[in-house]
Amino acid sequence: MTKNLNRRGFLRTSMAGAAGIMAFSPSKMAVPPEIQENDVIYRTLGKTGLKIPVISFGVMRADNPGLCKAAYEKGIKLFDTAHGYQNGNNETMLGNVLKDYPRDSFLLATKIKPVGLDKEGKPTKQTTTDDFLEKFNLSLSRLQMDHVDILYVHSVDNPEVLASKPVLEALKKLKKEGKIRFTGFSTHRNEAAVINAAAEKGKWDAILTSYNFMQTYITDLQKAINKASEAGIGIVAMKTLAGGGFFDKEKTKAINTTAALKWALSNQDITTAIPGMTDFAQLDQNIKMLTNITLTDSERNDLVVPTAESGLYCNGCSTCVSQCSRNLQVPDLMRAYMYAYGYSSTSMAYSLLKEAGVSDNPCGDCCECTIDCIKKFRIREKIADISRLVNVPEDFLT
Ligand code: SF4
Ligand code: SF4
Repeated sequence: MTKNLNRRGFLRTSMAGAAGIMAFSPSKMAVPPEIQENDVIYRTLGKTGLKIPVISFGVMRADNPGLCKAAYEKGIKLFDTAHGYQNGNNETMLGNVLKDYPRDSFLLATKIKPVGLDKEGKPTKQTTTDDFLEKFNLSLSRLQMDHVDILYVHSVDNPEVLASKPVLEALKKLKKEGKIRFTGFSTHRNEAAVINAAAEKGKWDAILTSYNFMQTYITDLQKAINKASEAGIGIVAMKTLAGGGFFDKEKTKAINTTAALKWALSNQDITTAIPGMTDFAQLDQNIKMLTNITLTDSERNDLVVPTAESGLYCNGCSTCVSQCSRNLQVPDLMRAYMYAYGYSSTSMAYSLLKEAGVSDNPCGDCCECTIDCIKKFRIREKIADISRLVNVPEDFLT
């Protein structure tokens, strides 16, 4: 069952408390006949002791209950959603599916974003325990569960959030009430700094981080991940496909998504990845990696990115923010661009633009773009393109 579990992971599993292990039984996993259960590759999520197949399900964009059912039946264990996905419909849909299965046969993660973070992602006086609890309790009722396995603080860009008293208070209360088993946070900007800060404190159970072959700061990120992993924090990878299945907006240059996922999982510090899946073909492709994540030379070659190819994935390095004469939150705008053109989700892009307060082209009459983007994005052009979306009636969005 624990084939391919690395030694450090095994030791952690052995030493972890009963809470993590006994309440979750991989033996109850449903697997299709073509997959030998004993061949499924499990890794252990840090000190939680949870043993999870290397492929999990990022449900964010999925809206087909049949797809979630099929994922469960084919051996996916961990389902990842968030309070804000699809205005709450994502949690509702997932809850309707999972309620039919034994609670100890799957793992459920959701995320809550604290209210009142400022432009730099720091908590403010508006960040309250009550708001966090209210959102979480709504999530729990949508999910029709009495607890979730992992609750992530959603989208932590600034280490100060990790020390926010209102947030920590909320997590403590939820844990005491038995509504969450493990606490974590997600990060997709300034990740290395945030993860390093968590590793120093060590009290977090899990981190969900962007991790892909296109990240220009990958060495720093890998070091931070390793440090957190050594501190017993379990690491889950997201955005492993670097912006969807294509390098370009026109969808002419496909990314080898199997190679991209295998690349991410070749880092033993990553317990599992949560690729977003919206159709059965993607599910079938990813399921194959439950038992084989060996990156072939040919697949590795597919990941060599031509230097002229900037792709759709914004690093989230934030170096552009101080260069912008209007101090725009360019990384958010670039992420919205990726959601629209990489994920084909204009609704996610729209929500992010609205959250960022975009009501028109924010560059306006700024004459010259002074930003030297590390990925050579043509920022002004992309902002003009994506900001058109805020004027589209919401019911037209996909
Ligand atoms: S737009 Fe460029 S400089 Fe700005 S965060 Fe993204 S990759 Fe970094
Ligand atoms: S064009 Fe836009 S992104 Fe570039 S510096 Fe001006 S306001 Fe900032």
